[in-house]
Amino acid sequence: MEKNCFKIGIIGGGVSGLTAGIYLLQNGFDVELYEKCGVVGGNLTGWHRQGYEIDNCIHWLTGTNPKSPHYKVWKNVGALDKVAVYYAEAFFTAKYNEQTLSLYKNVEKTRAEMLLISREDEREINYFISAVNSVINLLNMAGANNDKSTPFFTKLLSLLNLSRYLNLSAENLANKFKHPLLKIVMGGYIQGEFASLALIVSYAIFASGNGGIPEGGSIEMANNMRRKFEGLGGKIYTNSAVTGAKIVNGKVESIMIKNKQNVNLDYAIFCTDTLTTYSKILNLNTPNAYSKGTTFSSFHTALLIDGSSLPFCDETLLLVKSPYSKFIGKTLTVKNFPYIKNTVKNGKILIETMFICSQESSLKWVKLRKTNIQKYIKRKRAIAKICIKTIEQNFPTLQGKISLLDCWTPASYNRYTGHSGGAYMSNVLKKGQLPHKTSQKIKGLKNAITASQWNNAPGGLPIALEQGVLAYKSAKKYQKLNSVNIKKPLRQALAK
Ligand SMILES: Cc1cc2nc3c(=O)[nH]c(=O)nc-3n(C[C@H](O)[C@H](O)[C@H](O)COP(=O)(O)OP(=O)(O)OC[C@H]3O[C@@H](n4cnc5c(N)ncnc54)[C@H](O)[C@@H]3O)c2cc1C
Repeated sequence: MEKNCFKIGIIGGGVSGLTAGIYLLQNGFDVELYEKCGVVGGNLTGWHRQGYEIDNCIHWLTGTNPKSPHYKVWKNVGALDKVAVYYAEAFFTAKYNEQTLSLYKNVEKTRAEMLLISREDEREINYFISAVNSVINLLNMAGANNDKSTPFFTKLLSLLNLSRYLNLSAENLANKFKHPLLKIVMGGYIQGEFASLALIVSYAIFASGNGGIPEGGSIEMANNMRRKFEGLGGKIYTNSAVTGAKIVNGKVESIMIKNKQNVNLDYAIFCTDTLTTYSKILNLNTPNAYSKGTTFSSFHTALLIDGSSLPFCDETLLLVKSPYSKFIGKTLTVKNFPYIKNTVKNGKILIETMFICSQESSLKWVKLRKTNIQKYIKRKRAIAKICIKTIEQNFPTLQGKISLLDCWTPASYNRYTGHSGGAYMSNVLKKGQLPHKTSQKIKGLKNAITASQWNNAPGGLPIALEQGVLAYKSAKKYQKLNSVNIKKPLRQALAK
């Protein structure tokens, strides 16, 4: 099939880059993708240890409800096409001493459980549930089947309902509750200085049936997108880090690839993180718009549990006391993976744990690894032991049955993504901040744009998806404006 001779280079093979590529290929463009790692997927990834699959990414994928605007786009890029979706029973469960509390898909069930635990928090519980319902209304996913659109005035009221939380951080929200278990739920998942609305919106997305997990997890989802890209004839060059660009008369003429020949392009889409795009490749100052908000990263372990069953399922939050508060948060998330095959074998079950690390503590991890690798390794081991001990204390039946398989930190993400603090979502919103977008345009360049989660705080997979689609539209517009030779778009050609 003939394609147009307008050649587009995509730099970075994460979700944004793969999405942009798939849409461009479907519309007849000639696309090449350059990725610095050995595989595509970017942060949507995982790896294997001793035959067990470690899933790095998806906790929830926004856009699994067919009513959601993202759903058909995820289908189109292969992520949800003929893929079953796993729905956990609860967004997460928190445990404190012998009591547990879950944020169920059914928010009324959550309200009832909360009230049973703490009558004295009734007022705040009702406000919280009402705020979650407000977001569900704003998403047009109300009703028992989460498929009901919301009338205009209900939406207006919903917005008013949410204004109460605008100036509350997660910590402020937790402090409004008296019961320790409710405090963990409100301030333990999305923590500290982050906007409390982040918890409300994330839970509402889950409760509206829009936050499932594609079966097979992160590796399978990235592979499905890669297969779609390659199936449309796109070329992927892995182990091809782009190190610079030749700019002539305000246009990117070619890109430089580490240890390989330069590549000439008509149009460049930078799907790398902002710092890499601006300072490492284009040698430009990074616009201030990218520094609003704050970033975070995390400390993880992959653990093997002897046996064939677990006393918890999906995500559970546990309170932790440790002498390392400068390096890790106060709550530990413990998670298993019923939707991934290679996590149960040889009489053992793989689980993972995660501590959120603030921007400050993430930078400390990165610095420690660079300045004192022995101390870094020792600290990693000590915190991994705390993870195991915390699980054993909370679930005594697992005593002596847990072993460490792998451990990674913000410094690991720093080496992988290149971000100074190992951040893998874009700037997260603090209290008082609302989601904000940054233009894809690069000042002074006519034929190049940026397209990654960093253009739209707080980032995440759906934002990367949206950025990829927008990048396709920008490239198409540029091609039309410049009257570059256009052949029949692939979709039209296929329809004939
Ligand atoms: C532990 C963890 C949990 C997460 N959980 C969720 C979740 O539950 N839900 C959710 O929505 N999101 C989640 N995310 C975030 C999500 O993974 C990211 O938002 C998303 O993958 C970002 O996609 P992207 O394409 O914009 O950027 P990236 O994934 O960062 O892709 C950029 C790509 O560019 C490549 N690159 C960098 N420099 C160069 C260069 N010089 N030359 C060529 N290529 C280069 C990188 O290797 C990478 O492949 C999670 C991430 C992590 C790590």
